[in-house]
Amino acid sequence: MTYDKNNIFAKILRGEIPCKKIYEDEYVLAFYDINPQKKIHALVVSKGEYVNLDDFSSKASDKEISGLIKGISLVAKKIGVSDEVKGGGYRSLVNIGENGGQEVPHLHFHIFGGEKVGKMVS
Ligand code: 5GP
Repeated sequence: MTYDKNNIFAKILRGEIPCKKIYEDEYVLAFYDINPQKKIHALVVSKGEYVNLDDFSSKASDKEISGLIKGISLVAKKIGVSDEVKGGGYRSLVNIGENGGQEVPHLHFHIFGGEKVGKMVS
């Protein structure tokens, strides 16, 4: 699996393209999706150069893996969609490859919330 250093999220990570940043740490950068599919739509992007979840699972360190998973919950809390909040709850998903509908070849999780997100798969 070859990582393309010129994908759009790589450019955002390098600060070459702006984003509406939500959170950043050693393992993740989170920002709002440019084309939101729900009232709240955030993206949690791995800091490491991984094409997708399969690439990440096979190559990332345990610290990177836990950092990313914890990052998703942390971001959900920051944007107010955590299930701990009254009226909260959200969906997080990751698209993998062509049939999975992945457009940007850099690992990222989506967070959808702020309203009922509806059917799981359409
Ligand atoms: P995928 O289909 O790869 O899982 O999701 C890619 C997501 O990235 C899409 O929801 C798309 O709207 C979002 N996206 C693409 N380009 C940009 C960009 O330049 N900035 C931001 N914030 N989001 C982007």
